[in-house]
Amino acid sequence: MTIKSDIEIARAATMKPIAEVAARVGIPADAIVPYGNTKAKVSFKHIDSLKDGKDGKLILVTAISPTPAGEGKTTTTVGLGDGLNRIGKKAMMCLREPSLGPCFGVKGGAAGGGYAQVVPMEDINLHFTGDFHAITSAHNLLSALIDNHIYWGNSLGFDTRRIAWKRVLDMNDRALREIVNSLGGVANGFPRTDGFDITVASEVMAILCLSLDLKDLERRLGNIIVGYTRDKTPIRARELKADGAMTVLLKDALMPNLVQTLENNPVFIHGGPFANIAHGCNSVLATKSALKIADYVVTEAGFGADLGAEKFFDIKCRKAGLKPDAAVVVATVRALKMHGGVAKDNLKTENVLAVNKGCENLKRHLENMAKFGVPIAVAINRFVTDTDAEMQEVMKAAESLGARAFVCTHWADGGAGTEALARHIVELADGGRSAFKPLYPDDMTLRDKVKTIATEIYRASDIACDASVETAFKDLEAGGFGKLPVCMAKTQYSFSTDPNKRGAPEGHIVPVRELRLSAGAEFVVVVTGEIMTMPGLPRVPAADSIRLNADGQIEGLF
Ligand code: ADP
Ligand code: MG
Repeated sequence: MTIKSDIEIARAATMKPIAEVAARVGIPADAIVPYGNTKAKVSFKHIDSLKDGKDGKLILVTAISPTPAGEGKTTTTVGLGDGLNRIGKKAMMCLREPSLGPCFGVKGGAAGGGYAQVVPMEDINLHFTGDFHAITSAHNLLSALIDNHIYWGNSLGFDTRRIAWKRVLDMNDRALREIVNSLGGVANGFPRTDGFDITVASEVMAILCLSLDLKDLERRLGNIIVGYTRDKTPIRARELKADGAMTVLLKDALMPNLVQTLENNPVFIHGGPFANIAHGCNSVLATKSALKIADYVVTEAGFGADLGAEKFFDIKCRKAGLKPDAAVVVATVRALKMHGGVAKDNLKTENVLAVNKGCENLKRHLENMAKFGVPIAVAINRFVTDTDAEMQEVMKAAESLGARAFVCTHWADGGAGTEALARHIVELADGGRSAFKPLYPDDMTLRDKVKTIATEIYRASDIACDASVETAFKDLEAGGFGKLPVCMAKTQYSFSTDPNKRGAPEGHIVPVRELRLSAGAEFVVVVTGEIMTMPGLPRVPAADSIRLNADGQIEGLF
């Protein structure tokens, strides 16, 4: 049997006109803003009109700690959504938009895989509806306004050593990480050190994803702290009068994008913040709208559950008033074997013992999810090399904690491969068993919030902060930011801060290196290790093999 690539499968899809997909879930033709025939935005007017309707059930898809073996959260989100539709439920999916950077770096699409994909996948992975370009423009408008303000006299008193707003580009380009701008003489301004982040790391991205409407977007943009004066008083984007123009640039980008799965089911793909210095979930507006439109909404959070699910619950759900009804933890036998100590090259051989050992990681995540009060199931995303004995081992591990695990073959079979999981999820979500609560209350101090996450979720014995971090905590509390949630930036590969410690380490210390205030997004980023906000390309970038063939089709993109 030859295995088709994701792009070959996607290209063979029979897509329905997007108006038809929309109509099936009650979105009328005049409520969509089509971008071609297979993509559309949903108008604010329509979203507003849904306000008083009943909410559907919200289902989070998260995963064990990632390994190079891959887990397939997006693929499973799509597969479960298709499965729910197959068993006769009105279900929608909400996913993040991919960034161009990784597309040309490391191969791997962001619209699912195999027979559980969202289409048109080439568009989704490339320019899509232009949201990221709009975010890049809005971000860089603010950057330009800062330097322009300084050029024309700096009446706000920026300390140019303390500008807190870089520039962004949606590309992996390490050459731009640190730059000196305004070189070339008097007419070009005052030289200062500057740098670029990738667009998904922009606070504008996080803001767009947490905003409830255009007004809230404008308010948050105005709150962005762009720099400080000599006496360390923050200067906000509002003081540069940037918020109005930025909102204008973002007004279309804030509308959720509607596309479809290979099985023609509706999907919102909207917003794509980093999962380290931001919260890693699609937009609040897409999720809230989907809950009004469909009876079941399946959504994905980035990274493993220790980061992705924790931020989904503690930042997105807390802030947007969402109450998840069930969660699915995705595990693969291959990844569990790696957590059990097997090297990447040996994953194809059956090794029940290693699966058993690796299940420590799964069990830890299941225990953690229980702390949020959300009922949970496990999706075993089946790879062709998995054996029955290995999958049995995963089911036993899940059952030892009172959760059921299902072998899911959506990658090979589409929605037909997740029907059993879908039925169970309906049972969990409809059973009224969810008693969702965030892990910590708003009025806990920032330091205690970090410590609570570190000890409860990462199972660390403590956090370690040097004097500068202790001062930063105090300054933030004094500045009135103590009620914000914290956004942890930690390696996704381990519960600890050491990416090589797979499985279920405990008793470690979590060093807090730095705090970064995102005053517009309304969270405090807690940096616990190296974080990369402008990735580089690998020695052999994926771009090397991407081209148009004689028929004008894209080749080499996944
Ligand atoms: P995540 O969302 O966890 O990052 P994705 O769902 O995007 O993962 O999947 C990553 C890659 O793994 C995709 O290219 C997908 O085709 C592949 N993949 C996922 N599930 C399977 C599977 N069961 N068998 C083979 N490949 C898979
Ligand atoms: Mg994904």
